[in-house]
Amino acid sequence: MVVGIDIGGTTSKIGVVDQSGNISASAVVPTPESEDPAILIKEISRSLINLLPGGFDNTGIQAVGVGAPNASFFRGTISFAPNLNFAKNREVDFAGIFLEITGHKPVLTNDANAAAIGEKIFGGASEMDDFMVITVGTGLGSGIYVKGALLYGSDGLAGEVGHTVFQRDGRPCKCGKYGCIETYVSASGLVNTFRELSTNPPEVETPYDIYEIAQTGGEDAIRAFKLTGERLGIHLADMAAIFSPEAIFISGGLISAGEFLLEPAEKAFDANLMKHHKGKIPLRISELKNQQTAILGAAALGWDSIRKHEIR
Ligand SMILES: [Zn+2]
Repeated sequence: MVVGIDIGGTTSKIGVVDQSGNISASAVVPTPESEDPAILIKEISRSLINLLPGGFDNTGIQAVGVGAPNASFFRGTISFAPNLNFAKNREVDFAGIFLEITGHKPVLTNDANAAAIGEKIFGGASEMDDFMVITVGTGLGSGIYVKGALLYGSDGLAGEVGHTVFQRDGRPCKCGKYGCIETYVSASGLVNTFRELSTNPPEVETPYDIYEIAQTGGEDAIRAFKLTGERLGIHLADMAAIFSPEAIFISGGLISAGEFLLEPAEKAFDANLMKHHKGKIPLRISELKNQQTAILGAAALGWDSIRKHEIR
């Protein structure tokens, strides 16, 4: 068995996962607001002791995989993650502290990379060597496979497509830049687009509020989804031009909006593909169940590391 842990801004998810992707036990703990990472890790450790009959050490756990924003596979660190108080303004040796507290050294990668490894090991990309997974939720992330290997870059942080500039001098981004595609194509990006489009916007806080308005025929809501989908489609066509993938998988909370988002995305994607790519790169919905993507992705990272003998 492998433990998969997804560290999020508000909650962290923990699961015990077998080689076929079955989650035998899982738990959710609130991510503490504290700046001390040890508090979260102790919370996770306590939760794991409850999940694993016989305790962490005697249950044959072979690896621990962690998906977290701005996590480096090479360094085992989480650095400058705007949504995590303990790593907001610094680089934190998450793997080192985890080892100290639990006796197990985890492997880390960012959440979108974990989703891509999950798609490769448990999802629709098992036969593919070149593909991308795009996660559209709180942020816009990507995991990119090239020739059967995840693209890590020199520092383990490659694939941050959400922070490529879509609109020069555009909306301010949490990363400190302006006009990043993530500020347009994400949960908050959609909400801001809706507010911009509406002359007298009703109170909306989340994409689901806008989805409900769209379902009753609200034109501004439908347009907000359409514009967001088109921006996503154009962006994916850019990615296709650079990486020439066999397929692009889309995951994340925003895909629950279904055709409101996906139909305009597909149209804009097709319209902006280069001629030699037209009709050859399918946009597919991730085959991992939305609620499980994060845990399965992190667990897949654990299984992947076992296969590569990186666990010592
Ligand atoms: Zn940014």
